Amino acid sequence: MLDADERAILFLCCENHPVSCAACGRERRIGSLRKRRSDPERWLCPKCRTDVTPGVVAHTRVCRYFLGRKGLARIAAAPPPAATA
Ligand SMILES: [Zn+2]
Ligand SMILES: [Zn+2]
Repeated sequence: MLDADERAILFLCCENHPVSCAACGRERRIGSLRKRRSDPERWLCPKCRTDVTPGVVAHTRVCRYFLGRKGLARIAAAPPPAATA
């Protein structure tokens, strides 16, 4: 599961990044996902309440903000690495 740093990156950097909901067949912004108060480790589709946590976790493996992460301070201070590298 995600640690506190990773959840913070999702919240700060990935708000507008899409995760697809299999039930809706639509992409949802990470910033629009819901959580149950009883289960804050999981993300739910805002429309149908399907658990989309696996999609969020998969996103952390491909998102540029997670690729070279050395902590939040570095992310806040530096621009993302060039895609042409
Ligand atoms: Zn992202
Ligand atoms: Zn859905």
